[in-house]
Amino acid sequence: MLNVTDVTVTYQNAVRALRSVNISVPDSGVVAVLGSNGAGKTTLLRTVSGTLRHHGGRVGAGSVTLDGTPLVGRDPAAIVRLGLVHVPEGRRIFERLTVEENLRAGAAGVRDRAAWTRARARVQEMFGILTERAHQRAGLLSGGEQQMLAIGRALMSSPRVLVLDEPSLGLAPKVVGQIGEILREINRQGTTIVLVEQNAALALSIADTAYVLDLGRVSLSGPAAELAASDAVARLYLPAGDTDGTSGGTGERPVRTAAQGNEGGRRVDAEPSLGPWVPPRRPSGWPWQRGRSPRDGRSRGNGSGTKSLSDVRTRG
Ligand code: ATP
Repeated sequence: MLNVTDVTVTYQNAVRALRSVNISVPDSGVVAVLGSNGAGKTTLLRTVSGTLRHHGGRVGAGSVTLDGTPLVGRDPAAIVRLGLVHVPEGRRIFERLTVEENLRAGAAGVRDRAAWTRARARVQEMFGILTERAHQRAGLLSGGEQQMLAIGRALMSSPRVLVLDEPSLGLAPKVVGQIGEILREINRQGTTIVLVEQNAALALSIADTAYVLDLGRVSLSGPAAELAASDAVARLYLPAGDTDGTSGGTGERPVRTAAQGNEGGRRVDAEPSLGPWVPPRRPSGWPWQRGRSPRDGRSRGNGSGTKSLSDVRTRG
């Protein structure tokens, strides 16, 4: 289990980006973190992945633990070895390297040859397109394909916890839907997911539990289904009629939606889709399938014991 407890973060000893934030991520769960621009979502992921200091940030108080092991103060490579991998906003693939070289870079810390082979097979099965383009320069891939490469690269170290920062950003609606399906499949295979999104509809359609950050504080938390149905979240974060984040928004919301495009000066991909994405067969006994599928026999929404929205926590 990943626990963020009473965490406060500042940048350059001046900007307070997180204020006493508490978040619990149960094993094999999907937790969504929503919020407007500047709410602290990216900072939260930097904090858990150990990359905060590279951005001039510092944890001033609180703790982050993964299965009881403290993460604050560890370097990002050590945190990857503990099983937590961060897919940052904007994909950050190595554009001049080939697709294959990018995937190998994702497994740079993997010493166990058998584990490497299993991870490679998993990525190959999940993202056929990356195999087809293995020897192409990564910078030539479409935006959606680059996002798949970023996720595939992260899977190369067989993470137990995958944290993703706005994987839908700048992608066409159909591609956003495919990314959502891929994340569901990764979770079905046993990987815990923390998903930061401004596309609230997408995130809430995937997550069990959701947190809303507002100016560095958790302002709402609860089962994702209850948050999706709540007036407060719908009014602020969900475009009318968009239940899975793929139909596009009105453009009047304070958060980005999949089809609004050109956010942050980034192009929305013109690609209509990446071709059919077929969920891979799931042979039993693969090492990343720890125990039974987390979705099997589990009702959506309240897997973590988070209080219902009617009992919503507002932490000050
Ligand atoms: P967005 O959706 O716009 O990316 P966010 O919710 O991810 O927003 P953060 O990027 O975590 O928010 O930013 C939280 C606060 O910290 C903001 O006030 C932001 O300006 C500030 N901040 C983020 N990164 C830095 C940095 N490297 N140096 C100084 N301040 C920063």
